[in-house]
Amino acid sequence: MPALPPLIVATRNAGKLREFRDLLAAASEVVGLDAFPAVPPIAETGTTFEANALIKARAVRAVTGGWVVADDSGLCVDALDGAPGLYSARYAGARASDAENIAKLLAALRDVPPARRTARFVCTLALVTETEEACFTGACHGALAQAPRGSAGFGYDPLFIPEGETRAFAEMTAAEKARHSHRARAAEALVSSLRDSLRDRSPALRQ
Ligand code: IMP
Repeated sequence: MPALPPLIVATRNAGKLREFRDLLAAASEVVGLDAFPAVPPIAETGTTFEANALIKARAVRAVTGGWVVADDSGLCVDALDGAPGLYSARYAGARASDAENIAKLLAALRDVPPARRTARFVCTLALVTETEEACFTGACHGALAQAPRGSAGFGYDPLFIPEGETRAFAEMTAAEKARHSHRARAAEALVSSLRDSLRDRSPALRQ
């Protein structure tokens, strides 16, 4: 039985929630926001990934009272001075689909040659409990394909080829993606911090 309370992950995105269930399984049970319909939509008004993650985590904790993990993540493209970055989810408009965001990005990069199509995914996780607020950031460097590839994952996965790979994230299994992904790296840091802080209280987390 996990020694920690369930971790409420502040997302309604099914793709992200699936990844968090795998990534945080070593720490505790993971519950998504669908279990908490009282949580209102939260405006991401911060100007950094960290600020947005904390805004979301604090807002969800205020309603649920639980241990909350919130993430903010995005794709930073070097040739676009870091865009879409914080605005990755709404790059092609407030309710844009993944396909619309990908189409807009491909159009913006139409004249950019392969060597200059470098990009990185960034993910910051904020943990907010009754005693703690902390942020953990992971990044994954890679390059963007000329056209979408594969059908796994979500978001910009069909375009993103991590460094050292020939396949896009959307051509990989979840386990293969997790070996590279920004979210996995941030989650590892979070799990390791939870392990450290609970080591004395929880033999189950001591391995
Ligand atoms: P937010 O963190 O909910 O603000 O949304 C981040 C957006 O960045 C997602 O909607 C995706 O468009 C993109 N993104 C973040 N992480 C990934 C990933 O692992 N794969 C593909 N797209 C991602």
